[in-house]
Amino acid sequence: MEEIHVTARAFELSLALEAMAFGGEQPLSFDAPIDCVNCEGSGRDEDAVCSFCDGIGIITDRRRTAITIPGALDDGEVLELHAEGLGTLTVTVREQPHPVFKRAGEHLRTSLDVPAKVLATGGIVNVETLDDDRELEIPAGSGEGTVVRLRGHGYPSKEDPERRGDLLVKLSETPATTPVEREERRWGVSLTAVGIAVVLFGIGIMVTALVIRSNATVCEPGGNTVCAIAADGPVADETDFAEARRREQNEDAALGVAIGIAVMIAGGWLTTRGINEMGRDRNEQRRT
Ligand SMILES: [Zn+2]
Repeated sequence: MEEIHVTARAFELSLALEAMAFGGEQPLSFDAPIDCVNCEGSGRDEDAVCSFCDGIGIITDRRRTAITIPGALDDGEVLELHAEGLGTLTVTVREQPHPVFKRAGEHLRTSLDVPAKVLATGGIVNVETLDDDRELEIPAGSGEGTVVRLRGHGYPSKEDPERRGDLLVKLSETPATTPVEREERRWGVSLTAVGIAVVLFGIGIMVTALVIRSNATVCEPGGNTVCAIAADGPVADETDFAEARRREQNEDAALGVAIGIAVMIAGGWLTTRGINEMGRDRNEQRRT
């Protein structure tokens, strides 16, 4: 149990169902007033006010103690418990809701998903109890809502903590796929589809860049008209111009290829994510 800090003689204590059932040591901390260690309670430090205790002469000391919680408790039960250093404490216990078990007097209720085949033909399955996992025999011909009793795995009796109620296990048929799993698989499929589309888009960008480059007017020195006309200008020499055009075209193509590769990598990542999502989904189904 986690330590709690006590500031009053009467307090509420929130306990897990296991602690309510079996009890245990509850660690406590509390602040005890003691004489200031600097001024020994005088409040004065030489001729000035003691800065350690602001002249009060008393400081608080954090101390630790514990109470012993008995088992077989009921929600709202009030206990008078002795704690070393604190004397008698009035503790009202509050039961925390349990994720798996519900109390029904001396019995505990839980529910369990069982594959349809086991419900029909019977078999042994594992079930979580308040103490540990146990084997539970499913009788043949069980169905949705059948309650199987695991004797002696319920709540301890107040009169005799050795005696315990039963665990009542309500059976349900394991759904083929839960809505959440279906949703996850749809998400995985969509992600994969988008990923593949993005990869194709990246390939498209790359191919386009290369096609544009190969179709581009290649300005060979003394070559085609476009280069010749442009090179007629007052500044550009025909050879320099052709060289500059080629460089420009090569740079454009390289940029196009680089963007294409980046888009492909992004698409590949999305596809992997999508496939993982679908794979995880399948593993989850196998486990149940
Ligand atoms: Zn002091």
